[in-house]
Amino acid sequence: MTSWICDKCGYRLEAETPPEECPSCKKKCSFVDNSCYTPDCQGQPIDPRIKNN
Ligand SMILES: [Zn+2]
Repeated sequence: MTSWICDKCGYRLEAETPPEECPSCKKKCSFVDNSCYTPDCQGQPIDPRIKNN
């Protein structure tokens, strides 16, 4: 599963592919891949915790 975030309203969902219409703001939004933008990931492509283990 991939985490997606609406670039308009910030709505987040997890799905294989993002929906064309945002279920939150009901507009055609661009969903961006949020997977590497979570606080834990800190913008890095690979979760740093993986290296520590
Ligand atoms: Zn939206």
